Amino acid sequence: MRPQLPLALAAALVTSAAAFAAPTLPGPAFPNFADAKAVDTACQSGLDGAAKRVKALEKHAPDAKWPAASDALNAYIEDVSNPIDLLVYVHPDKAIRDAAQACVLKWQDFTSTLGQNETLYKAAAKVKPRNDIDREFMRVTLDQFEDAGVSLPADKRARAKQIIDRVTELDQQFNKNIRDTNTKVPFTAEELKGVPENVWKDKPRDDAGHYLLGLDYPTYLPVLDRADNAASRERIYRAKLSEGGEGNLKLLNEIVQLRREYAGLFGMKSYDDFQLRRRMSESTANTLRFLDDVKGAVKEGEAKDLAELREAKAKHLGTPLEQTKLERWDWSYYTERVRQAKYAVDQDAFRQYFPPQESLQFIMKVAQDMLGIQYTRVPAKLWHEDVQAYAVSDAKSGKPLATLLVDMYPRDGKYNHAAVWSYRNGSTLTNRVPQAAYVINMDRKGLSLSELETMLHEMGHALHNNLSATRYAAQAGTSVKRDFVEAPSQMLEDWVYDKKVLKLFQTVCANCKPVPDELVDKAIAARDFGKGARFARQHLYASYDLALHSADAPEAMATWAKMEGATPLGHVQGTMFPAGFSHVTGGYGAGYYGYLYSLVVAMDLRTAFEANHLDPVVGARYRKEVLSQGGQKPPKELVKNFLGRETNSKAFYDYLKK
Ligand SMILES: [Zn+2]
Repeated sequence: MRPQLPLALAAALVTSAAAFAAPTLPGPAFPNFADAKAVDTACQSGLDGAAKRVKALEKHAPDAKWPAASDALNAYIEDVSNPIDLLVYVHPDKAIRDAAQACVLKWQDFTSTLGQNETLYKAAAKVKPRNDIDREFMRVTLDQFEDAGVSLPADKRARAKQIIDRVTELDQQFNKNIRDTNTKVPFTAEELKGVPENVWKDKPRDDAGHYLLGLDYPTYLPVLDRADNAASRERIYRAKLSEGGEGNLKLLNEIVQLRREYAGLFGMKSYDDFQLRRRMSESTANTLRFLDDVKGAVKEGEAKDLAELREAKAKHLGTPLEQTKLERWDWSYYTERVRQAKYAVDQDAFRQYFPPQESLQFIMKVAQDMLGIQYTRVPAKLWHEDVQAYAVSDAKSGKPLATLLVDMYPRDGKYNHAAVWSYRNGSTLTNRVPQAAYVINMDRKGLSLSELETMLHEMGHALHNNLSATRYAAQAGTSVKRDFVEAPSQMLEDWVYDKKVLKLFQTVCANCKPVPDELVDKAIAARDFGKGARFARQHLYASYDLALHSADAPEAMATWAKMEGATPLGHVQGTMFPAGFSHVTGGYGAGYYGYLYSLVVAMDLRTAFEANHLDPVVGARYRKEVLSQGGQKPPKELVKNFLGRETNSKAFYDYLKK
C-alpha cells in the first residue's frame, strides 16, 4: 500500500493557492499494464493509430496549418510510445520490461520509416512559415527528415534506415545488459571497516556469512569513499567498472562503426561532423578547441590535487612517498579523507538532516519560491508503490500546468543513474500539458549534500519539461540543442550551497533538525577541493566520446585503455569502463562534451541569481525567457533575452582557474 503523506507535509505544500490546487493530475493518466500481453496490445494499437494519422497527414495541404497537423502526429506518437519506453527502465516486472523493449524496436522501425517519408518531406519543403516560431519549427523538421536520409539515393536511403534501426536495437541491448548485470560482491564485516554500518548491515548474506553488496549508488559509493581496506575498494571498483561486460564492448564497437558509415552516406567523414554541425558549438573544430581550453585550464589543478592525495596515502599507510602509487580506487577515498582532515566535513554528516521524502519536498519548495509554481501530491496507481505523482500548477492563477511522477529509490532491474523522462511535451496551441518522470536512486536513510545537489540537478530537467509553454510539442521543454540541455539543471546545483536556501527545509519539515550553518560553511569551503581532478575526468569522457566518433572510428576498449592510460592515474588492466558508458550508445553519442559545454552557459545563467538564489522576479524572468521557450528559439537568443546581454564563458573560466 502507498504510505500516506503526513498531514504536516501536505499542509506545508498547499499554501496560498490551496483553493485552486488541482485535485487531479493534469493530462492523461499514466497507463497501467496488467501484464506483458497488455503491453503488446497497447503497442500494436498505438502503431495502427499512428499509421492512420500518417496517411491523413500525407493528404494535408502544405499550408499554414501544416506545422500544427505535423505536431499533432508527433504528439500522438509521444502519447502511445513514450510511456512504454519509460517502462523499459523502471518497471519491476521483467516480462513487462522485455515486452516494452520489443515495442520500442517496433516504434524505431516506424519512426525511421516516417523520417524517410518523401510525401511529407516534399510537403514540409513547400510550407511557408508565417513567423519566427513556425520558421524554426520547419527548419528543424526539414533537418530531421534530411538527417534521416530522405533525400539520399534509394540504396543509401535503405541502408540509412537499416543503420538507425540497428543502432537503436544495440543501444537497447547495451542498457539491458547493464540493468541485468546484478553483480553482488561478497565482503566480511572486517573488510567493510570504515563503511557506515547502515550501508551493509541489512544486506543478504551468502552461506559463508559474507554480506552481498550490489553496485547501486547508495551501496557502491560509500564502499569506494569509505572502506579503509584498499583491497575492498579495489574489488567493488573492478566490479562496477565491469558492468555490461565484454558483450557490451562488442555492441559499442558495432555502434561506432555503424555511425561512421551513417555519416559517410551523407558524404561526411565522421559522426562527430554529422552531429556537431547541428549543435550550439556548431562544428567538430569548435568543440575540440573548447575541450583543449578546458584541459589547459584544469591541468595544473589536476596535478596538484593528485599530488595531495598521494601524499595523504603515503602518510596514512606510512610508506615513503616515492614508493606510493595512487590507484583509481584510492581517488574517492583519499579525496574524502583529505576533505575531512582539511575542512572537517563529512558528507555522511548531512544524512540526518535530509530525510529523502522531505528532501523532495524541499527541492519542490525551492522551485515554488523561485518560479511561482505549486506542487500538490495526488494519489495515483503507477508502476511501483514507491512512485509518487504531483500536479504542478501556477501559484498565482491556480492554472494546472503539468504532471510530475517521482521514482526515488533503487531496486533490482531499475535504471541505475538519475534521469528525467520528458515523456509528454506540452503545446499551447492544443492546451496539451507536459508530463515528466523523475527517476533517481536515493538512500532511504537520508541524503548527503551532494545527493541533494543531484536531486536539484534532475529537478532542473523536470522544470524544463513542466514549465514549457511553447506553441508546438516538438519544440517543448528539453527539446533543445543537446549541448544546451544540461544548462538549466546544472545552474540549480549551486543552490544547495546557499544557507538561505537550505533554511527552506524547515518550512517543509518542522520536525527536521536544521542543518547547522557551521556544517554548511565547511561544505562550502570543501566544495572545490578536488575540482581539478574531477574536471579532468569529465574532460576525458568527453574527449573519448569524440575520439570514438571521429573519422577513424577506433576500437572502443583499446582506445579507452590508451586514453585513460595517458592520464596521471593510468588505466587499470581488466576494467572496462566503456562497457557501462550508456551515454555514448544513446543520445549523448558525439555529445558527452555537452555536460561541460552546458556548464559554461549554466554558470553564466547563475550570475543573474548572484544576489538572491530565490529572487522571484529574476525567477519569473527565467521561467518566461528560458524554461517556457523550450527549443522554439536558438539557445543563444534565450540566454540573451534573460541576461540582457550576449552569453560568455567568463564565469566558467574564472571558476576553473580559481
Ligand atoms: Zn542532466
